[in-house]
Formats: sequence, structure tokens, C-alpha cells
Amino acid sequence: MMDEVVNKMKTVDWKNIELGITVNGLRNVLVKRVISPFRRFRRLLEKSQWWSGDQLLAYQTEKITELLWTAYRHVPYYRGMMQVYGVSPKKITSINDIKNLPILEKHVVKQNTFQFLSETMMYPTLYKCRTAGTTGEPLYLFRDLNNIGFEYACLRRQAQWAGLQDGTTYVSLKGEVVAPKKIKSGKYWSFSFAEKKLAVSSIYLTEQNVHKLIEEMKRREVQYVDGYPSPVFKLAKFMQSRDIQFPLKAVLTTAEPLGLYQKKVIEETFLCNVYDYYGMAERVAAIHMCEHSNYHVVPEYSFVELLENSALPENYYELVGTGLSNYAMPLIRYRTGDAVKASDTTCPCKRAYPVVESIGGRISDYIITPGGKYVWMFDHIFQGSKNLIQAQLYQPDLEHVVVRIVPDKYYKQSDGKKIVEQLQQGCDEKISFRIECLNSIPVNDRGKVQSVISDVSKEGFGSDQNKTELLRRKR
Ligand SMILES: [Zn+2]
Repeated sequence: MMDEVVNKMKTVDWKNIELGITVNGLRNVLVKRVISPFRRFRRLLEKSQWWSGDQLLAYQTEKITELLWTAYRHVPYYRGMMQVYGVSPKKITSINDIKNLPILEKHVVKQNTFQFLSETMMYPTLYKCRTAGTTGEPLYLFRDLNNIGFEYACLRRQAQWAGLQDGTTYVSLKGEVVAPKKIKSGKYWSFSFAEKKLAVSSIYLTEQNVHKLIEEMKRREVQYVDGYPSPVFKLAKFMQSRDIQFPLKAVLTTAEPLGLYQKKVIEETFLCNVYDYYGMAERVAAIHMCEHSNYHVVPEYSFVELLENSALPENYYELVGTGLSNYAMPLIRYRTGDAVKASDTTCPCKRAYPVVESIGGRISDYIITPGGKYVWMFDHIFQGSKNLIQAQLYQPDLEHVVVRIVPDKYYKQSDGKKIVEQLQQGCDEKISFRIECLNSIPVNDRGKVQSVISDVSKEGFGSDQNKTELLRRKR
């Protein structure tokens, strides 16, 4: 045994150990896997994925009741709000009774953050995070160890559905920040031994230096990639243009809507399936993709409601969720601002989890025409053009939209013309589109590419629902 340890120590490349990222990684592993109740939740989720619909509903009802009692007794905001609405946990007999509570808006949480904290929790023991904010102040959120362990157990199960084992080396492409010192030496990645994670900065990834990363991936024996669709797609496009393929067991994507055109290129480059999953900093909904490539709402994680919204295309619903595991800062009926496309199919995996057809992205990612028309979802337009690495719409005023694109080397002017024609057709208005070619599209403070940025005030629009029409996704 001792010899084994000594041999193992000899194989460690001590010179290349990066202290900062390794200490950070150790802390992450300690919190997520050791201190939190991760193992208990992992065992639960192993079993519960095969529960019947009735068993899952019973579980959700029990957890919602517990959460409401916690909120009523210990969370100042809910104590006051329930009194105003005449709701008491005693009156909750079925899960649908929580619909007597109002929808919770993000700005309410932002303005009253500390009113949402449970009085039973010791502030220093909580884990603070924040939502990505492109404008204004970010929203701060607090989580307890229960929530951290539960979420990590759900994510490990997602990896298991993708055929991945715990402890395998992977590439992370999630808007990573790498020390400038390293970048100068030509390495735009850091390696965390504790997490077996090769964190790659997509900002410094170019077609010319992509081979360096591939060499590092080979050296580290990388088994999968976990990242945002746009940087993973960027990497795949660079590899494709250099005729490079790198077989992986799976690619996991999250945090931005995954376009079918992106999925196809990623799968062809890494010779494996893409598994897309949905989550958010507020932890009120999780949607994971099973072995049959269907999106499943994870019912143990949260209680999800799909609400109608007149600003959305047919069969798209607004996602409202209640997280079932964060007792430090309960968020009940929280409006996520994201939309999903409903599905009535049953999945061959035989799990009784609800299925959704696709993740639609931010409801606020639309442009407004001079006639007051909302135009949403541009995926199908960019999908038609194979020669793009990234795309974004920027609307500086009502009459103009800049189509920002990062072209690849096969891009022709006719591609841009076609994109403009399709956008023009969809908007059916005197709105002018202009193509702007860039080397890269700026990301927000969490490393994500926003599909639409609009400077047009949205006040006063949408009040007259008859004016609201939408560009339907062309399939
Ligand atoms: Zn399934």
C-alpha cells in the first residue's frame, strides 16, 4: 500500500501544480462532497429516478410543506407576505395550494435580500453567490450545505446519465479566468488536481493556438467537456477548420440555449453525444438530459410550474420554480425569466419525470420593432448559416439592429445577406439590419454570450397584447 502511494507521488508533476487553483479545488471538493450531505442525496437520487409519478408527487408535497413551515416561522419576508395573503402552511393540503401565493419577482428579492434569509441560519455558515448581471446591481443569493449537497448530487447524476464516472478528468469552458502570467507563457488554461478539471479561458482560444490545448487534453487524458455552448462550439469550429477530432465520452453544455447547429458540430468534432442541462443561480429549477437525449424536469430538485405568457410563441411557457432544498433562503414561485417548449411525449428511459422539448432561453432576449412587435428566438436563422462561430443581435434604437457575427474562414458576403433577409422577413417592418463582423463577441461578467442586447426602453410595450406578434421558429 505504502509503495503504491510512493509510486503515485512520483508520477505527480509537482512543478506544474498550481497552488491557487488546487487550494480552491480542494475547498470545492471538501464542501460539495465531504461536508455537505452529498452522499445521502446521491443514494436518494439513485432510487428516486425510478419512482412512480405518485411517489414523486408525495415527495414534492412533503418537501413543499416543510419549506412553507420554515418560511412561515423563520423567514421575515414570507411571514409578512403570508399574513397579507391569508395563507398558512396549515391550509396547504395539496401541492397546487402554493398557487395561492404570488409569483416572486427578481427585483423583490434584490431589494429585500436579507428579509429572505432564515433566522435560524448563522450568516457566516452560508455560501454566497450572485446572478450574472449585465446591467445594474447583481442579485446576491445564499445557500446552505443541504442545497449545495443536493445540487451536486443532481449534477453527478446528470453526468452519470451521460455515461461518465465520478473522478474523470474534464475540460471546463464556462467563462474561466486564467492568471495573466500563464497567458503570457502561452497557456490559457489552469489545472485543478483536486477536481481533475482543466479550466480553459475561451477568450484566448484562437484557431492558431488550438493545437496547444489539444496536446494538453491528450496529456491530461480528458474524458469529457463541460461548458457553455458558445465557447464549446467555438473550440469545435476551430478544431473542424484544422481537421482535428478528439474522441470524448460526452460533452455537457449548460447556461445558454443550445442551438441544433451547435450540437451537430460539437458531436462531429468530439465523436460523442452532447447532453444539455439547465439550471440557474437561484436554484429553483433543474432540467437534465437523459440517455435518450430528452430534457427532463428534475422533480426532486424543485417544483416547477409552466405559465402561459402572451409574449411567447405557441407551446412555449414561462418557467416558475420553487427550490426544495435551500432552507437558508427559500424562493417560492420564483419567476426565472426563462422559457421552455412543452412536450407531451413520454421518454423511453421510463422515468416518470416530465419532459420538455427544448429550453427557449431568456424571455427578455427579444427586439422590438417600430410597430411594437416583439421578435424572439433567432436560432433558426443562425442555424441556416454554417459559417459562423458566434452571433448576437444588438438593438441601439427602434429602427436599427446590428447583427454582430464572428465569421469562420468559409464565410462569404452572401451568408450575411441571407441572414439579413431572413431577419427582415421575420420582422416584417421598416427596421434596418446591419452586419458587423468581429473577432469575438464580448461576454457578460459570467462569461456568457447574450443572444440579444437592446438599448430600447421596454416600458410601454406589450401592454396592448393585440400588438404582440412573434416570429415563430421555422423548423
Ligand atoms: Zn428520458
